[in-house]
Amino acid sequence: METKQFKAESKKLLEMMINSIYTHKEIFLRELISNASDAIDKLYFKSLTDDSVGISKDEFEIFLNIDKENRTITIRDNGIGMTKDELENNLGTIAKSGSLDFKDNNDLKEDVDIIGQFGVGFYSAFMVAKLVTVRSKAYGCDTAYEWKSEGVDGYTIEECEKSAAGTEIVLSVKDNTEEENYDEYLEEYRLKSIIKKYSDYIRFPIRMDVEHERKKEGAKEDDADAYEKYIERETLNSMIPIWKKNKSELKDEDYNSFYKEKFFDYTDPLAHIHVKTEGTATYDALLYIPAKAPYDYYTREYEKGLQLYANGVLIMDKCADLLPDYFSFVKGLVDSEDLSLNISREMLQHDRQLKIIAKSIEKQIKNDLTKMLKNEREKYEEFYKAFGLQIKFGIQASYGMNKDALKDLVMFYSSNEEKLVTLEEYVSRMREDQKFIYYATGESIERIRSLPQTEMVKDKGYEILYLTENIDEFAVKMLMNYNDKQFKSVSSGDLDIDTPEEKEEIKTKSEENKQMFEFMKEALDGKVKEVRLSQRLKTHPFCLTSDGELSLEMEKVLNAMPSENKVKAEKVLEINPDHQIFTKLQSLFADDKDMLKKYTQLMYSQSLLIEGMSVENPVEFSNLICDLMV
Ligand code: ADP
Repeated sequence: METKQFKAESKKLLEMMINSIYTHKEIFLRELISNASDAIDKLYFKSLTDDSVGISKDEFEIFLNIDKENRTITIRDNGIGMTKDELENNLGTIAKSGSLDFKDNNDLKEDVDIIGQFGVGFYSAFMVAKLVTVRSKAYGCDTAYEWKSEGVDGYTIEECEKSAAGTEIVLSVKDNTEEENYDEYLEEYRLKSIIKKYSDYIRFPIRMDVEHERKKEGAKEDDADAYEKYIERETLNSMIPIWKKNKSELKDEDYNSFYKEKFFDYTDPLAHIHVKTEGTATYDALLYIPAKAPYDYYTREYEKGLQLYANGVLIMDKCADLLPDYFSFVKGLVDSEDLSLNISREMLQHDRQLKIIAKSIEKQIKNDLTKMLKNEREKYEEFYKAFGLQIKFGIQASYGMNKDALKDLVMFYSSNEEKLVTLEEYVSRMREDQKFIYYATGESIERIRSLPQTEMVKDKGYEILYLTENIDEFAVKMLMNYNDKQFKSVSSGDLDIDTPEEKEEIKTKSEENKQMFEFMKEALDGKVKEVRLSQRLKTHPFCLTSDGELSLEMEKVLNAMPSENKVKAEKVLEINPDHQIFTKLQSLFADDKDMLKKYTQLMYSQSLLIEGMSVENPVEFSNLICDLMV
């Protein structure tokens, strides 16, 4: 018989399984039972709309058998089964492996991460079995097939005998090694406890024939054959899904382990939300906020969504309509009686009930996050570290449509507090005479801290929010204000921090030096909109700011995007009237205009560098400095 080869990636995964040093090998059973349950789900689902299936709900089962003599474990289901092609495609290639980032160093330690993180499905059988035999008959087909593999060398498929539709998987358990005891998987009590631990909520009975002993009727205690063995078929799982249980019955641990199994995370979630509602929408939901952003979270590959159950039956694995984009990090499931089982995906999108549920869930999530922010600040900050970016994207997206829902969840670093603060906190601390919520932008907190533009604002005692992410200023612009307090960049036009006397003084000085500034503007040849005196500088000689809607930071961010349309902020070169440089400029304007021109160009380039922007012509810039040096 022909031996077929596994696809390259599957082979790699298999190799990893076979040589695994993963300590929780027991999960193979969870994976196989979960596949069996999915297969039964499919046939059950069919039976609801198709009378010809001819199986009633209570006939479905997953059956386990241990054969100690032959060292095999059998897992049998009467689900939908697989055709020959399906056996080949489903078991010969592993879809998931595409997302596994294999490195080529054969580092076995790595498998722990991968197995823990993804749950590797069917192939996990090879962690405990040296030979895996799958016999399957697809529902509606007459022929059954047997798929067999001892691992990386490939697999065979041939016809076999099997009466009922469904799948039977026989694991020939590995021999014990010095490090590993495989015999334990041939013990009833061991399998029972694995099932309790991982598969208790599986909706179909997992059954096993268990041997018991009892005293024969009328026998005396000391009779040699007083006891007899008998077999009883036991159901090993409670079949109650965790979300149907009472909250009082459940511990954090139960919620967390369910999360990790179901959503393939290896860290506990930050929080869970267990909702049971009746009323306009009747549903149970179990929602989780992960502790870390999944590796692909901020990419296009990430798919948001909640599992959707109609009265306990899984009808969709990732129902995107249940979550707004800005809460796309939430994992979990919703189970509702209000949904019809045979609703199609297209219909679901327009389902009124689903919309009501989605709205209600959104509210729940927001409430819980707000509560966390109030009562568990540290936890919230952890959340914000992972998903704050998403919240800010949410404010900015759809022309700010959702900004009101999100504005109280956002936080920025505060110059005064030296930690993340909410807008509410900022505004509550504002001074009586303070009109604006001040913010400064830059690559990092350290960098913003040393920005010339922040000097005077800080010196006068105003709190400044430090915006370090690309999205931040866009989000702030979208918010426009918070509690009627407008946001104001420390680099923008009028900061309104001067006393009337200071204002008057600047005005007079500006008037006096008008011609010099005009000259300097000319010297920069259209690069700036204006050269003027600054109100925001204390010790620094000059800085670059912008007038108008587009800030320097926004120019930087937008121009870094792959687009042909480059933007330009209306730049302003501001000079500190109290700095020696200013006196120097004045004397040059009187005596040496050529030199003033060079100085101006130099100052402009320097101020670009301070902003973290690049000088337009580095060679010219360098030559200019050399000129002045010699
Ligand atoms: P996953 O279950 O995550 O898709 P697996 O490697 O566990 O990945 O299984 C691959 C596929 O093989 C499944 O998606 C399913 O189509 C099929 N399969 C596995 N076990 C069974 C089974 N007992 N009955 C029917 N189909 C199965």
